[in-house]
Amino acid sequence: MDPMSETLPPCPACACEYTYEMGELLVCPECAHEWSPAEEAEAAAENVVKDAVGNVLADGDTVSIVKTMKVKGSPQDLKIGTKVRNIRLISPVNGHDIDAKVDGFGPMKLKSSIVKKA
Ligand SMILES: [Zn+2]
Repeated sequence: MDPMSETLPPCPACACEYTYEMGELLVCPECAHEWSPAEEAEAAAENVVKDAVGNVLADGDTVSIVKTMKVKGSPQDLKIGTKVRNIRLISPVNGHDIDAKVDGFGPMKLKSSIVKKA
């Protein structure tokens, strides 16, 4: 990666743009605020649902299944490549954070880790 293209986030305390890295932390030269970008990202990630390859998902997206899965109570498997339209993001239930209607299965909950944005 070209180091010149790497932009550090501005200071969350004073919005100064001249932040620099010190080990794991970012430091602000203006107000001496120190913070961990990893923790910031984690906090932000709580509200973001990503698919198997890291695309951010939103309500209404169409996704496809990337891993064939057994479906509880159904004789058929949910096959890789199955398109799922109009997903709805929900607060996770046993790790399932997508609610959707799947052709041939009806309404079901999916894990974002087994879908890919179409
Ligand atoms: Zn600052």
